[in-house]
Amino acid sequence: MRFDAIVIGAGAAGLFCAIRAGMRGRRVLVVEHNTEPGRKILISGGGRCNFTNTGTSSENFVSENPHFAKSALAGFTPSDFVDLVRFHRIEYHEKKLGQLFCSGSARHILEMLLTECSRAGVEIRTRCAVGDVEKRGDKFIVSSSCGDFETGSLVVATGGLSFPKVGATDFGYRLARRFGLRIVNTRPALVPLRFADNEPAYSSLAGIAIDSEVSIGKTSFRENILFTHHGLSGPAILQISNYWSPELEVSIDLLPGADAAGILDAAADSKRSVGSIVSDLLPRRFLETFLPSPDRVVSQLGERSRREIADRLQDWRVHFGRTEGFHKAEVTTGGVSTSELSSKTFESKSIPGLYFIGEVVDVTGWLGGYNFQWAWASGFAAGNSI
Ligand SMILES: Cc1cc2nc3c(=O)[nH]c(=O)nc-3n(C[C@H](O)[C@H](O)[C@H](O)COP(=O)(O)OP(=O)(O)OC[C@H]3O[C@@H](n4cnc5c(N)ncnc54)[C@H](O)[C@@H]3O)c2cc1C
Repeated sequence: MRFDAIVIGAGAAGLFCAIRAGMRGRRVLVVEHNTEPGRKILISGGGRCNFTNTGTSSENFVSENPHFAKSALAGFTPSDFVDLVRFHRIEYHEKKLGQLFCSGSARHILEMLLTECSRAGVEIRTRCAVGDVEKRGDKFIVSSSCGDFETGSLVVATGGLSFPKVGATDFGYRLARRFGLRIVNTRPALVPLRFADNEPAYSSLAGIAIDSEVSIGKTSFRENILFTHHGLSGPAILQISNYWSPELEVSIDLLPGADAAGILDAAADSKRSVGSIVSDLLPRRFLETFLPSPDRVVSQLGERSRREIADRLQDWRVHFGRTEGFHKAEVTTGGVSTSELSSKTFESKSIPGLYFIGEVVDVTGWLGGYNFQWAWASGFAAGNSI
């Protein structure tokens, strides 16, 4: 039961790493505790897998070291992955903002990876949970529910903590800690946010979506926000959640590109209500709940009141109390510190032969195909080295 390399986790990063190493003639085993490989791939992108983003750069990622991702992203680009998708004749399309999705099913991406694994001679064992890993000299002994294995290169590709129902575990972080590697605090990300207790309840607005610009400091995203029963979701909120922590205030511009103060000033003599003037730009049902007095006639408002209304619409300061947690988060921020790893090979600097790739590393992408591109690129880099 000796292999040149063992990869723990048959997700996007693990499978891609195994393919690359197998193509180089390495004897590779992938162990997966689920009954099937790639379960997260199957549920990704609403079942259509947003498998890459054509505009990927290191700026689309959150990490303690924003430069760490550059080398791997340059070594395997979105167009490299698209070439593979085309070679397998998988139909795809750009949905928006460079996001490439399967036109059929996410299963096509998984089937492509499994076909490539078999071409590369990669062995995959499912229902195989790793219990313990021991280092003896320059070898790793991996004890699992399907036997003990020996290898000189051990790749940890066990992903993050989000969506435990499809098999996410903290195994990778525990293993890293046991070998003395530093872990950056893990938090749910790409996740809906819940209002803090001191925010008014907007549950009657649940289901309303508004094109908005959402900011924390200088970081901002313009896409829809979606009111939920307890807080906000929608792409712009998921994006900002990567940067959010409880002490940070979020500012939301509900009329990006418009000038609410100017519109109200121009209507200063109008007998129309505030709500009716702004209702050309925002849903009436929303304004009735959101504005303090939507029925007030604009001509009765002083300049200060008009300014307050404009600020509420274009600089709504929201306090969130918490996220909706790992069971609703698409990804996990934090993870194995990049300071512990080579950015070229993903090998641990202190434990030769031990590698960490994919989401278990402290590199987290925005919404839009970036996280899979990170999985492919980091897997490819490690697969070239093991
Ligand atoms: C609902 C949802 C939708 C998403 N959609 C997209 C999208 O469209 N585009 C995008 O870019 N990203 C998307 N993501 C994020 C993306 O799926 C992940 O970032 C990516 O899968 C990470 O790849 P990975 O290989 O590092 O980890 P994973 O894909 O999570 O793979 C880790 C594997 O390790 C296995 N494992 C864990 N512990 C053990 C153990 N102890 N022993 C053996 N095996 C173990 C797991 O079962 C799993 O198969 C989505 C995430 C979710 C939850």
